[in-house]
Amino acid sequence: MSLLTEEHELIRKSARDFAEKYVDPIARRMDRENYYPRETIKEAGKLGILTPTVPAEYGGGGGDLRAAVVVLEELGRVSGGFSLLVEAYGILFADAVNNFASKRQKDEVLPKVAAGDKIGAFALSEPCCGSDAAAIQTKAERRGGEWVINGHKMWITNGYYADYYLLAARTGPREARHKAITVFLLPRSRCVEATPIEVMGVRGTGTAELKFNDCVVGDDDVVGEVNGGWKIIMHTLDVGRVAISGVAVGVARGAFEEALGWARSRELFGKRLIEMQNAQFELAEMLASIETAKTLAYYAAYLYDTKSPDFLLMSHVAKLQAARLAVDVTRRAVQMEGGFGYSKDSKAEMFYRDSKILEIGEGTNEVMKYVIYKLLEKKFG
Ligand SMILES: Cc1cc2nc3c(=O)[nH]c(=O)nc-3n(C[C@H](O)[C@H](O)[C@H](O)COP(=O)(O)OP(=O)(O)OC[C@H]3O[C@@H](n4cnc5c(N)ncnc54)[C@H](O)[C@@H]3O)c2cc1C
Repeated sequence: MSLLTEEHELIRKSARDFAEKYVDPIARRMDRENYYPRETIKEAGKLGILTPTVPAEYGGGGGDLRAAVVVLEELGRVSGGFSLLVEAYGILFADAVNNFASKRQKDEVLPKVAAGDKIGAFALSEPCCGSDAAAIQTKAERRGGEWVINGHKMWITNGYYADYYLLAARTGPREARHKAITVFLLPRSRCVEATPIEVMGVRGTGTAELKFNDCVVGDDDVVGEVNGGWKIIMHTLDVGRVAISGVAVGVARGAFEEALGWARSRELFGKRLIEMQNAQFELAEMLASIETAKTLAYYAAYLYDTKSPDFLLMSHVAKLQAARLAVDVTRRAVQMEGGFGYSKDSKAEMFYRDSKILEIGEGTNEVMKYVIYKLLEKKFG
């Protein structure tokens, strides 16, 4: 059984062509200068690459989750930063809006976001709370007929440049935890104070700290139901965990190809590095890891696309393993390149730094294990 169809392979081809033509040339600039690639985002918008799962009627790619994984894999192969930027943009923001927003909200936001004209960001994490997201402190209070939002978000990808925030806020007491959280679709205005954050990898993704000072929104800016935000957040992160596995496969693949090229050309002790058995074993380990991560990512996405009850477990298994394997493969690639691998001239070095966020963002490895154990308990008692 093939987990991907011919259509997925056509999507791969167009994503690969796009990645090589438009993303590869700016990947190092994103990394070195923390450059946010506004023009490349617009180019991606023209092809539906920015929002792979948003219906074509809104200008998105109209694909399923496997299509998104394939797109992110191809982008990640040339730039972990660009791939993560698209994952946060197209899945955490746009796919969530498509799944949960009202028709009015979708009609207003999705065409502009799919085209890359307006930027969307998913704002959940706070200085107090990332893994423990049910403890968030940003508040939305009822004043007159409106909602007034005050609070502080942290680490928000695309956050510095975003025109819209899908924002989680507390609409009841903190003790009520996840039962008193509402999601709002908040247009950017002067009430939002954004500060860029310098990060180790996936640079050029507009990571920001955000302060919301008396931001006023209406009832029609609530996404889903008041106090019903947790379901939206959890569903979005479960899907995001599969999507980010696609980023991991791509980053690992990019580093593997770098290492392979190096091993073929580097000469030492009178022969090429690739003729040494340890180098061959290293490349074999790397490829085995990539194939493992790829299969897990495609399988988890397939389970989502076919509405299987096994999806939840596999989304966490795929994220845990793909992230770990990406860090391991990129580390091996740096090692294979020796001193060059440690220099800023090596792309393996960039992939190594890019890979680390995959073990942290959208749930750390520890949180993945926590959820897997909870599901195990449910299944086996
Ligand atoms: C570059 C970048 C981009 C990001 N993009 C976004 C974004 O777009 N939107 C957004 O909302 N957030 C975003 N995040 C935030 C990210 O999701 C959080 O950083 C992550 O969930 C971890 O939360 P934390 O940083 O608060 O760490 P903490 O939750 O404080 O975790 C600290 C440590 O405790 C461990 N830990 C947590 N729970 C347990 C447990 N039950 N048992 C054992 N150990 C545990 C963690 O694994 C970790 O090692 C981004 C982060 C980064 C760095």
